[in-house]
Amino acid sequence: MRKLAAGNWKMNGLTAQLPEVTALIAAHPSPSCDVLLCPPSTLVAAMASTAAGRIAVGGQDCHPKASGAHTGDISAAMLKDAGASYVILGHSERRADHGEGDALVRAKAEAAWVAGLIAIICVGETEAERDAGKTLAVIGTQLAGSVPDGASSANTVIAYEPVWAIGTGRTPTLPEIAEVHADIRARLTARFGADAAGFRLLYGGSVRQSNAAEIFALPNVDGALVGGASLKASDFGAIVAALSAA
Ligand code: PEP
Repeated sequence: MRKLAAGNWKMNGLTAQLPEVTALIAAHPSPSCDVLLCPPSTLVAAMASTAAGRIAVGGQDCHPKASGAHTGDISAAMLKDAGASYVILGHSERRADHGEGDALVRAKAEAAWVAGLIAIICVGETEAERDAGKTLAVIGTQLAGSVPDGASSANTVIAYEPVWAIGTGRTPTLPEIAEVHADIRARLTARFGADAAGFRLLYGGSVRQSNAAEIFALPNVDGALVGGASLKASDFGAIVAALSAA
């Protein structure tokens, strides 16, 4: 399995930031992991052109339909046409800001596959859910509802992102991350059999240069989904280097 360092620029980035992509590629010309950046949709085509296949480019969301009267939305085929090969789906910010539920995330994943995109499906508990001891149950429900039956290691990546760890500088303990990733792997195995071993399971939530190596050393952690630290080539490059060395 090729591990994956994925960056989520969220609603950040203008064309003036594209040199960060050039700098990242120059500093890490042949990493031993896959590298992906997901800029806002306005930058997908330009970033794909800048990256020229040296790193992958992805979207941050797509509509479940291929086309139609959906003002302001973007389809998976449009992302693919612009040069994307991945799309992040069910990020907690979309679940919270746009009321996205598991059924919608599942439909989006199926739309992503039809367009030829790899779906990165995000799951994660809130702080209240963790405090109540519901973490594994919440993630089990999200996985069951958000991951379609057609998922495979080739078309789907799972990102475990505790909501309370995103952008806060806080992370679960290493045993807590390992526990959740083991549980996700077990649930995928129960559902998809031997192919579950090949699904890439990303940890996301305040991954930084300072904690990347210890997180990547955990079993069943096959990469990271990185927000804030993906915006600068130097920060993200350090995480790419840590994953390459893991
Ligand atoms: C994210 O947005 O998916 C994320 C993990 O953000 P951050 O790395 O900034 O916590």
